[in-house]
Amino acid sequence: MRKETPPNAIVFIGPPGSGKGTQAERLKGYQHISTGDLLRAEIQKGTPLGLSCKEKIEKGEMVPDSLISSLIESHFSPQILLDGYPRTVAQAEWLQDKVHISQVFFFDVDVDQLVERLTNRRVCSTCKCVYNLVFKPPVKPFTCDKCDTPLIQRADDNEQVIRNRMRVYQSETAPLIDFYKKKGILTRLDAGNNPDALAKIIHDKIFKKS
Ligand SMILES: [Zn+2]
Repeated sequence: MRKETPPNAIVFIGPPGSGKGTQAERLKGYQHISTGDLLRAEIQKGTPLGLSCKEKIEKGEMVPDSLISSLIESHFSPQILLDGYPRTVAQAEWLQDKVHISQVFFFDVDVDQLVERLTNRRVCSTCKCVYNLVFKPPVKPFTCDKCDTPLIQRADDNEQVIRNRMRVYQSETAPLIDFYKKKGILTRLDAGNNPDALAKIIHDKIFKKS
């Protein structure tokens, strides 16, 4: 009996605000699965899953594996880009039985730079557009360019939460980096680089098999 072909997956590893989302938007041909976006959608809908995750996310803690993995799996398609998953070796081990991972990109960041970037982040609650008061300001101050909605700051985009999130993130993720490095499919990116340069590196790695 032949098994069904598993989804072909690209993985983006990196803390929130490292620019993964921006690069994911630019990469065509892959369905973008962002655990952050999926969770926020659950929270907004007020589902039991959403409610149980809400408190943890606001404190900068991690959401249990079992919840995340079932959420991810329900969004599988033949070509997927996983953004923000896996975050731990346990998740990576679960994932490798479910999908074929062709390439893993690690968005490496400087923590102080990240704090500056995230505390300046503003989002549109209507169309979900993301702005940055320093790097990508809206044309009209504090207002969405696309739909004219006033921009808001996400509750978890404050310095204390960000630093706590980074401590949790780094201790959990370091072993994951080694896990993929050993498999020979990891590419480290300097997340401080400009988005165009990063997009080119990612594109070449995926589409020009060297
Ligand atoms: Zn908008």
